[in-house]
Amino acid sequence: MTTSITNNVSDSININVNVKIDVNRPRSVEFLHEGVDTQDGAGVKLTRVLTENLQQRLDPYLMLDNFKSENPDDYIAGFPSHPHRGFETITYMIEGRMRHKDSAGNEGLLENGGVQWMTAASGVIHSEIPEQEDGAMEGFQLWLNLPAKDKMNDPWYKDFQSADLPHFTTNSGVAVTVIAGESNGVKGAVTREVTEPTYLDIHLPAGTSFSHNIPATHNAFVFVYRGGASIEGQRVPIKTMAILSNDDDSDGVTLTAGDEATRVILVTGRPLNEPIVQYGPFVMNSQREIIQAVNDFQNGRFGEGT
Ligand code: MN
Repeated sequence: MTTSITNNVSDSININVNVKIDVNRPRSVEFLHEGVDTQDGAGVKLTRVLTENLQQRLDPYLMLDNFKSENPDDYIAGFPSHPHRGFETITYMIEGRMRHKDSAGNEGLLENGGVQWMTAASGVIHSEIPEQEDGAMEGFQLWLNLPAKDKMNDPWYKDFQSADLPHFTTNSGVAVTVIAGESNGVKGAVTREVTEPTYLDIHLPAGTSFSHNIPATHNAFVFVYRGGASIEGQRVPIKTMAILSNDDDSDGVTLTAGDEATRVILVTGRPLNEPIVQYGPFVMNSQREIIQAVNDFQNGRFGEGT
């Protein structure tokens, strides 16, 4: 069980003298991307922010979906029983309740501010069904690739309630939840050795700034879901993704909120530089492995459905 960490940046410096929070050579925005409105599951309306054409550019990330609606017709059908193989899914529920069941015997209720981290690896069949008939449903699902050597490992799964997630508040009042990786000396709920994912939810009061160190070789993007931000003078409007440039000598990013309270997610990771072959819910390294995945699924080798 993780414990919640609440402290501010000064405390973090005191507990870890090696922490380096200064960003001297911040990344700029390479380009903005709006994503496409689509449907998935049994008809859930969502915006696919990280689309398939960006998989190489944002390696090791494969997909980011943003769902947000107050109309139950947009989400009520959920995502009935379906398989995954070869990667990890990270679902972050901003508001709403969703029940998860899978073929490995896991079941959990994901709600307001909680995270579900599922490593599908060699294969799971799961369902993701809203446990509400009205009200708002808002959140993100991010797909993180696995290195070739780990794609056929056993599946893994963990739910984190909002209070279990490490978070900190800076002196200027910026509140940060560290879902994965590390920021300003605060370790996240999940770490991964090969892809080194960092996943932050950052709430900036109007006019404030926040800096975070990023290794120059890692790919990184920001998505604004409230207010509006700017990065090195480039305005990033709401519902927009900013792909950050990979400058050889850069050491991080500095985000600044506009004249209203702003919320963004910041996602970074070390690229795998391996072939990416996707067929729907299967992401492997070759066509042969995709055929094997389909064959294994059809022959019941992913376990029982949900
Ligand atoms: Mn799924």
